[in-house]
Amino acid sequence: MIFYGTSSSKLKNGKLPNVECPNCNNITSMTYTVFGKYAYLYWIPVFPTGKVNVLECDSCKRTYDLKELPENIKRKFEVEKHTGIPFLHFSGLAIIAGIIALVGYWNGVDKENQAKYIVEPQIGDVYSVKGSSVGHYTAMKVTEVTNDSVHVIFSDYEVDKRSGIDQVNKAAYYTDQIDSFSKADIVSLFEEETIYDIDRD
Ligand SMILES: [Zn+2]
Repeated sequence: MIFYGTSSSKLKNGKLPNVECPNCNNITSMTYTVFGKYAYLYWIPVFPTGKVNVLECDSCKRTYDLKELPENIKRKFEVEKHTGIPFLHFSGLAIIAGIIALVGYWNGVDKENQAKYIVEPQIGDVYSVKGSSVGHYTAMKVTEVTNDSVHVIFSDYEVDKRSGIDQVNKAAYYTDQIDSFSKADIVSLFEEETIYDIDRD
């Protein structure tokens, strides 16, 4: 479940002197408060979504949304307030950008490692491979490596998700039958993405 929503925080408040309240008709002052609204994700403010301006008559205490007030008060308010959007409301963006960069880095490292693993297979390597039909995937485990050959066993089961190999990579699921590939064949299978992932403990 993604916890998402909007919230607001107080950015600024102050007073507008000498304005006429539409409710009590006194020439009085109004206290204004600017709220910054922001979207949040898991309690982290992600980006600002706007501002709400609330004004309260200091005489009759009636509160207004700025939109409800006459033009002359709106103009006076615009001159009074010069409110920036606090940096805090953007902090979530920075965190998310950081996570994306980190995942990209890990993926890059992972791809580099796989390119190494495929040319130097080790006993216990688990290859994610395309299965017997399109959209099916299974696991292939290295059981022996010789000078030029790689001996493997296949899982008896297939999954319909590329990322679901863990479900079929269970010791009990592997057949006893051993298949052999030349090391060059293994590299070709990786290059053509029949072998699309390599897991080494
Ligand atoms: Zn009033």
